[in-house]
Amino acid sequence: MRKPIVAGNWKMNTSLEEARALAGELRSTLSAYSTVERVLIPPFPWIVPLADILDGSDIVLGAQDCAVEDQGAFTGEVSARMLAPLCRYIIVGHSERRHIIGETDEVVAAKLRAVLRNGARPILCVGELLEERERGEARAVVERQLQSAFADVEAADVLRTVIAYEPVWAIGTGRAATPEDAREMANWIREVLARHVGAEAANEIRVQYGGSVNADNAAGFLSLPEIDGALVGGASLKADQFTQIVERAA
Ligand code: PGA
Repeated sequence: MRKPIVAGNWKMNTSLEEARALAGELRSTLSAYSTVERVLIPPFPWIVPLADILDGSDIVLGAQDCAVEDQGAFTGEVSARMLAPLCRYIIVGHSERRHIIGETDEVVAAKLRAVLRNGARPILCVGELLEERERGEARAVVERQLQSAFADVEAADVLRTVIAYEPVWAIGTGRAATPEDAREMANWIREVLARHVGAEAANEIRVQYGGSVNADNAAGFLSLPEIDGALVGGASLKADQFTQIVERAA
């Protein structure tokens, strides 16, 4: 059985005071939903204060990115080695990093390996641009992203990874994919991964949907057996919205 996982990616939002207040509120509103893995993914500097606020609860922290290397002269970088004691999950390959910062498939693959060798769990984001979908290339793009990310990863580590299918055109646009789009791609993702780990193991891998998920449309995705949760951006900054999304996954 795959445990659903709902993660809130706060991106580059919240002041320290806002972050504390939001985490404090979520600690109480989310406590009822232990059948769902609940993950808060704040900006780096809020991870330590939030670890205190969430201490003793079963809500876990994640990080939005990490460095390729574990340590050294890399000014401004934060490594998976530093994050792993505090964060169960680390996002790699988010579309904003691929398309705004310019991270290549190779960089994403190196970050994925950094997360795994340091004992955290990656949330690997994959997804096509609008023009790629319109050209009928969505599956090929996702296949390439998966193959590149897992090329040098052992099967046991593939199973520790959560895949977030996030069509780029749906992120932050208010235009979510249809549940049918998400279902089709989740099936395709498991088909591609089955080549690497076998069909039975691929069936254990959790696949989230992300892209304009909110309290109103969440049920459409989360009621599908193929979809194991959501990666939520904008709506994760509102305690009531995020709590309702978690409730839909329970
Ligand atoms: P959104 O972001 O929910 O604001 O569309 C999703 C994401 O970037 O993970």
